[in-house]
Amino acid sequence: MVGLLRRGKASGFICHKLDRSVRNIYDWSELNRLVDQGAQIHFAHESLDLDSLSGKLSADIQAAIAAHYSRNLRDEVRKGMIGRLKQGYLPFTAPRGYLNCGAGKPKEIDPVVGPLIRKLFELYATGDYGFQQLREEMAKHGLTTSNGKMLALDTLTIILNNTFYYGVITVKRTGESYVGNHTPLITRALFMRCQDILHKRIRRRSMRFDHTFRRRIRCGTCERHLIGETQKGHIYYRCHSFGCKGVSLREETVIEALRQEMCRLAPVTQFSDFLCARLAERKAATTLDLAARRKQLTMQIDAINSRQGALVDMHLDGIIDKETFKAKAQSLVDRAADLRRLLSEAGLATLPMSDPARVIVELKDTLEMLRNCATAREARLYVDRIVSNLSVQGKKPYITYVSPLPFVVEQIKKASGGGERDQTRTFEELCRVLDL
Ligand SMILES: [Zn+2]
Repeated sequence: MVGLLRRGKASGFICHKLDRSVRNIYDWSELNRLVDQGAQIHFAHESLDLDSLSGKLSADIQAAIAAHYSRNLRDEVRKGMIGRLKQGYLPFTAPRGYLNCGAGKPKEIDPVVGPLIRKLFELYATGDYGFQQLREEMAKHGLTTSNGKMLALDTLTIILNNTFYYGVITVKRTGESYVGNHTPLITRALFMRCQDILHKRIRRRSMRFDHTFRRRIRCGTCERHLIGETQKGHIYYRCHSFGCKGVSLREETVIEALRQEMCRLAPVTQFSDFLCARLAERKAATTLDLAARRKQLTMQIDAINSRQGALVDMHLDGIIDKETFKAKAQSLVDRAADLRRLLSEAGLATLPMSDPARVIVELKDTLEMLRNCATAREARLYVDRIVSNLSVQGKKPYITYVSPLPFVVEQIKKASGGGERDQTRTFEELCRVLDL
């Protein structure tokens, strides 16, 4: 509109009230310049004659009051926002992966998008994905824009830099951070790892040579890792040592061998179910312990809150300088975020699982994953989870599983043939031996 007036395309305008037309003194002087150039400006609800001297004076005063009102309002809004931030509420729309639940309530994890955001962080943290591959892969999993397109590259940057996901609200303009009262989607460690990759402190593995089983298959003769290469559309892994000529196999062979091995591990899934049930029983028993842990964590968080208060006082009294204050405040915020994460975990009543137990419990998921495995990349995840050594002799792959899987398979095989009661006894025996 101002442009049209300046170019003389319009001779003036009518506005509802003065404070609807300008909100600050700069705009007001701009408007006056237009009046001086001959623009006809009228206010429907105020009888201001901008052509007369007294009319100008009274309009100036009203403009100053409007500017004051606007500044005051901004201040009030700011105060309100800081108040809500201090209570851990995010006074903006929920980031992708969270849901808005009303002004007085924490943001809740979106049951569909939330896990996808976590996946995005996990994939990026592997260092295997650039932004392009990452958004393609995430689109395959269903993380897209509202009209089904791949996420924009900028969106990835925004997500990967948002501390909200690990439980801390950072105000971009001031750099201040507050502990959120929402449940974090990821750990701070995962976030920081992604930051390291983003800022190239960790070199992303070059995709050009990134074959799926890179550094995962060893030569059975010389123990070195096989090196992947693409030939006629197939991926081959070869030993490049002198004297190991002919040690090579196709990627499909590796995946096929893994599939066949799946049958050998199948009996363990029953043991996996048994163990899950047993862990659930134990979980019920420790719910009481967790209540105590929650109380302890809450007390620690309270202590940090009061330390934050004391820190502000020290800063205001001039005992510590701004830099020290900022550093200390940041470390307190991080510590509080960690504690909050522990608290939310304690709320879920999850037990710390021993590593062997985790291997066995996860085995079922892992096998399921391989059964439906669409990509070689997923087969690699399977390898990373339960295979301790993958080697090749000539053209045949040999697979060794992580402990205690081989032992469990052997024991179950030995005891098989008995009835259901015998199986339960075997499982109980296994739990005792493995200290699960
Ligand atoms: Zn070799």
